Amino acid sequence: MTRTLSTQVLVVGGGINGTGIARDLALRGVRVALVEKGELGGGTSSASSGMLHGGLRYLQKDPEVTLHSCVDSGNIQRIAPHLIFRIPFLMPIFRDDPIGPELAEIGLEMYDRFQAFKRGKPHTRLSREQALRLEPALSPQIECAFTLDEWGVDAARLCAANALDAVDRGALVRTHSEVMSLLQVGGRVTGARVRDGITGEEWEIEAALVMNAAGPWLPKVARLAGLDVKLRPGKGIHLVFERRVSDLAIYARGIDGRDMFTFPHEQNSMAGTTDDDFYGDLDRMTTTEDEVAYVLQAIERSIPGIRRHRVCHVIAGVRPTLFGFGKYEDELSRDYQVIDHGERDGVPGLFTIAGGKLAAYRLMAEDASDRLCAKLGVREPCRTALLPLPGGEAPLDVAALSRRFRVGWPAALRLFFRHGAHAPRVLEQNAALPCAEPAPPAPRIVCACEPVTDAELVHVALREGLRTLTDCSLRVRLGIGACQGASCAAAAAGVLAEALGWSAERAAYELATFLSGRWRAATPALAGPQIAALELHRAADLGARGFTRGDRAGAAGEDTPQRDAAWETA
Ligand SMILES: Cc1cc2nc3c(=O)[nH]c(=O)nc-3n(C[C@H](O)[C@H](O)[C@H](O)COP(=O)(O)OP(=O)(O)OC[C@H]3O[C@@H](n4cnc5c(N)ncnc54)[C@H](O)[C@@H]3O)c2cc1C
Repeated sequence: MTRTLSTQVLVVGGGINGTGIARDLALRGVRVALVEKGELGGGTSSASSGMLHGGLRYLQKDPEVTLHSCVDSGNIQRIAPHLIFRIPFLMPIFRDDPIGPELAEIGLEMYDRFQAFKRGKPHTRLSREQALRLEPALSPQIECAFTLDEWGVDAARLCAANALDAVDRGALVRTHSEVMSLLQVGGRVTGARVRDGITGEEWEIEAALVMNAAGPWLPKVARLAGLDVKLRPGKGIHLVFERRVSDLAIYARGIDGRDMFTFPHEQNSMAGTTDDDFYGDLDRMTTTEDEVAYVLQAIERSIPGIRRHRVCHVIAGVRPTLFGFGKYEDELSRDYQVIDHGERDGVPGLFTIAGGKLAAYRLMAEDASDRLCAKLGVREPCRTALLPLPGGEAPLDVAALSRRFRVGWPAALRLFFRHGAHAPRVLEQNAALPCAEPAPPAPRIVCACEPVTDAELVHVALREGLRTLTDCSLRVRLGIGACQGASCAAAAAGVLAEALGWSAERAAYELATFLSGRWRAATPALAGPQIAALELHRAADLGARGFTRGDRAGAAGEDTPQRDAAWETA
């Protein structure tokens, strides 16, 4: 049976642009529904470097992009202070670099002018000795080095925070729900037909306006209305090391002269990235051995000992870069466009947002929402730079949190990082767990690498609308550390099964899917006997647990009980 739902704006895509627009509209009192075919942030947004930067690289060709990104980075830092972290960078200069210290310093002096917008410190020049003392992992071959200042963010969590705020303001947000076709009446787009990938249910969502925020998939969504939107999709990979390989982020130069870097990111270090035209299947992207070798080779020049560190998984994503003909990938503009298909193609009711950067998402969402509101006759101004995202309301005494809930300091700190001022609310979830004792049990660490507690899993399941075990790796970083879920996935599946009332078949399916995903992410970084060892481990694990690959028997149609009431009654 097809259900129907009616709203003012339907947003297609739960990446940073879609969730940013949904929040903006909801804050202006617009009725909005957002559908995401996977998990929030599960497309390009979570595959980014997560830098809230202006991009030193873009300064030369796209100073406007640098300016917008730096200004919006300042805004994002203000509304979500708990989600961000400072990333001090070192830029080593080698004798054979095409750009020597003098020229490099001119560029950095220009970048310094933008730093104030994003609370960044100006650069400093270090002698070879000073740089090596600061970062012993650096190559002794350097001539000198510069420092510069950037900020990082948990991009998937930023998407979730925007979506959660939108829901708090009355929006409907549904993950694992894919737009299969667009509804059209007399050439006007009037909504979409959406399929729930877990239950198989279909929805017809009628909307005055549809916003296509599907990232690199946006040409596919536009084609549903017979329209052509061109991108230059650029694939980028990151290697994720099992722990921090350096204290500071360090620039590196690829064999082709491209800038890359390795940087501390949350509990890990990441290295990247590539930028290559990609016209393959976005839903079946793989990382090649060559891509991994290319990144490692570049990083090795700056950090000679890099190969001693273990890459625990690889992340790949595709930039929805604006189309440009005849340019190298790195030279393409990082600017964005909001397209009114009524004006451009004579197909009213449909808008598309393309291109841009994570660091400027709030400004882009403001621009897109202004255009939508103008069509709807809504005059409310944008308030997204003024109101904090959930958790960003106030600082929190993490030591007191740790004592009050009997949870270790590192776990309390990481919890605060993800949930900010809402962290106590998360730990109170343990009261929802069935227990014989009069007082709720102290939170139990389920994933030690991050760490993640059972209370946080119950919270995201019951209060944040999380729908699968696999989604936990983005929502709370479960199982993406050194063990890649080997020591936590089964326990986490148990916690979610209890909280959400999953059957044993559903829990087993979730576990098998989660582990397969982790194995797929780990394999590109392995070679020869390592792959054989992983396959043997995988076969033994699947055999011991009695799983068959892709087994969904008995699990099909089951869903979580916390579904949004509005979706149920619509
Ligand atoms: C390697 C790499 C590094 C980057 N580093 C940075 C950086 O450090 N700083 C920075 O500012 N920017 C960075 N970027 C750019 C930034 O990540 C992107 O500009 C941004 O994330 C794009 O967000 P989006 O919402 O448009 O797309 P996405 O995040 O891809 O969101 C689109 C969503 O739409 C969903 N979708 C698709 N089709 C449908 C459908 N039919 N129905 C329902 N849902 C659908 C997808 O599942 C997806 O989740 C980087 C990008 C890459 C690839």
